[in-house]
Amino acid sequence: MRLKTVFDMDNTLIPNEYYANAKDEFSELIERKLGFPRQKIIDMHTEIDRENLKKNGFHEERFASSMVQVYETLCSNLGILADDCVKKESYELGMSVFDEEAWRRNDLLPGVEETLEFLLAKGYSIYLLSEGAVKKQKRKIEVTSLNKWFNEDNKNYLCVNEKKPVHLLALINDEKSNSCYVGDKITRDVSLALNAGVKPIYIPRENAKDSAFFGEPSEDVLDTEKVVKLKSIIDLKIDYYKIFSS
Ligand SMILES: [Mg+2]
Repeated sequence: MRLKTVFDMDNTLIPNEYYANAKDEFSELIERKLGFPRQKIIDMHTEIDRENLKKNGFHEERFASSMVQVYETLCSNLGILADDCVKKESYELGMSVFDEEAWRRNDLLPGVEETLEFLLAKGYSIYLLSEGAVKKQKRKIEVTSLNKWFNEDNKNYLCVNEKKPVHLLALINDEKSNSCYVGDKITRDVSLALNAGVKPIYIPRENAKDSAFFGEPSEDVLDTEKVVKLKSIIDLKIDYYKIFSS
């Protein structure tokens, strides 16, 4: 029986559409100011932001700075000076993804509380492994209901700049054959679990808005012998025997 379950956080346990929504608002602002089509602005941001991610990792100001960079580049293409007020507005739109009030309002995805409580009642150990700007990810755990299960006392979570197999293995004390890893992305979660030698459970969010950014491949690439795909987190409860016993 696989008694240790590690969860990804964003879009697995809590919703995170803040980035996609902020990009929408940003593209609207820049279309209004400079007249470029919104999709072009969004694509340009994705490209610049990916480059910045490669260079500096999940730095707190990366997403917002990429917005300012897009605006400045487009201004320079037009041969005009960038307006400080628009730069500030772009930056603030980017930083709005860390709005704690919004985190509190959105809280858990459907079925999460019931599933976590069920696993604990069955005697399973639960863990959380999250990547991003470390301080912000920790804060997200503190201000949402996740704090009930994942906290300093339980020492069962890890926030890192970029998830690596070594982090996953540290959480489960190297007990690979006894563990599962649950996440919503093929690129960030399924491949991580496979590289660590831990059973991957893949629960994609329907119409995920952040898939383009992460360059998610088609699900055809999934090795269905190795990867369990579920429709919703509650299936972990409904099908728990089948899922955790193999
Ligand atoms: Mg995720």
